[in-house]
Amino acid sequence: MSVIATNLQAVQRRIDEAARAVGRNPETVGLLAVSKTWPASAVEEAARAGQRAFGENYVQEAVDKIGLLRDAGLEWHFIGPLQSNKTRLVAENFSWVHSIERGKIAERLSAQRPVGLPPLQVCVQVNVSGEASKSGCAPAEAAELCRRVAALPNLRLRGLMAIPEPVEGSDAQRRPFRQLRELFETLRSGGLPLDTLSMGMSHDLEAAVAEGATMVRIGTAIFGERNYL
Ligand SMILES: *Cc1c(COP(=O)(O)O)cnc(C)c1O
Repeated sequence: MSVIATNLQAVQRRIDEAARAVGRNPETVGLLAVSKTWPASAVEEAARAGQRAFGENYVQEAVDKIGLLRDAGLEWHFIGPLQSNKTRLVAENFSWVHSIERGKIAERLSAQRPVGLPPLQVCVQVNVSGEASKSGCAPAEAAELCRRVAALPNLRLRGLMAIPEPVEGSDAQRRPFRQLRELFETLRSGGLPLDTLSMGMSHDLEAAVAEGATMVRIGTAIFGERNYL
């Protein structure tokens, strides 16, 4: 068995155990394999092991890979910071965007989504770490941004996403995830039809699953340590 296939199994086992530990059905936690910086061959290897959903952060790198793997039946999620001048490529090539932090970007994605493709599935990214992190809207702004996104014709609002600062220890890891889940529940009670909590990475997936993650985004634990250029 390949290293990537072995790693995928180990990650799935971690998800299963974390879910069972809090009485959740492991099947309610989806696995997004984060393939940024890794070549198409690594994605193919994961796909051969049964993985279908892949996350990418860099638009041009992702579009190249998506083109190479056009016929593999994979689902691509954009999870990185998104500038206005890159929205068209994202609207044309991805099924999901997890990193909506401004209404203007959402409006461009909706306007640029090609006719004939299903709506782009999106999550609003929330900054639950306060000053320490620059990405995501403030928790107090999330309701308004979600309503704005939900009204756009070619987007389908699915949920919330966060990337908390890396910290050690289960209690400290769980705090921001709990904050995101409570915000999610508040927005749902307010009538927004959310079903996705995108949270948890290689180092903190157990804490995220314990707090209700429905999609964990895992790179390093599947593909290995990244070498940035
Ligand atoms: C890189 C990245 C991940 C994966 O992180 P790992 O620590 O390698 O598992 C998840 N989410 C986002 C938004 C990322 O940029």
